[in-house]
Amino acid sequence: MTLRSLLTALAALPLVATAPVLADTLKTDCPPEALGTARVLTLGPEAGQAYGSVQHPRLPLKPHEVVLTFDDGPRPDTTPEVLNALKAECVKATFFMTGDAVTQYPDLARLVVSDGHTAGMHSYKHDNMTALSPEAQKEDLKTTQAALKATLGADAAPFYRFPYLGQTEHLLAEAKAQGITVFSIDAAANDWEAGETAVSVTNRLMNNLATSKGGIILLHDWQPVTAEAMPMILKALKDQGYKVVHVNWTR
Ligand SMILES: [Zn+2]
Repeated sequence: MTLRSLLTALAALPLVATAPVLADTLKTDCPPEALGTARVLTLGPEAGQAYGSVQHPRLPLKPHEVVLTFDDGPRPDTTPEVLNALKAECVKATFFMTGDAVTQYPDLARLVVSDGHTAGMHSYKHDNMTALSPEAQKEDLKTTQAALKATLGADAAPFYRFPYLGQTEHLLAEAKAQGITVFSIDAAANDWEAGETAVSVTNRLMNNLATSKGGIILLHDWQPVTAEAMPMILKALKDQGYKVVHVNWTR
């Protein structure tokens, strides 16, 4: 090797070294023992599908893969705690927000998205769509879309979950026509029931997941018991070998 070629090689070294060093720096934000997000499942413009084995076919997930979803937020007294728990384990989730909550707490809705999570719709005021006329259902979807768009712009996902999982043929058809993906669930924690504790919610979810073999998990970020249970739930997922999949979309 000539001196010139040696110098040239040495000069090139820092450039070559930059990428791995940067990658390592990013990695250190996430402790090696963290649960982490195993992969991203991107739903394309062919969407307009409905997923979740309680009412529909399953998402294309492998056994033991789970998708974390949180309904009814964002709420200032509990959502930040949920976000902190997710961040500590480097896990990305999907939040089905009501238009009303997004309008009340726009900064919190933006924080959810800037933390890297997906923001989907959950009606405007959590009305049961099965009790509304087809026109009122369509109007509710329109108002919800406008509320999320006003706050989140292009970050508002074309994802929808029916309040109470009370789906209607009319709104399912409307969602399909607009390319909106509808999310039902595969496993719940019943974290909305009275008298639950962090332990009971965690145990129920893990039992239900053992039956469903993974899939879409339903939680509620406005429930104090859920905010409290999140570190325990994420630890149980990790200990039992579940892999977290983040669902995103592309147009
Ligand atoms: Zn709900």
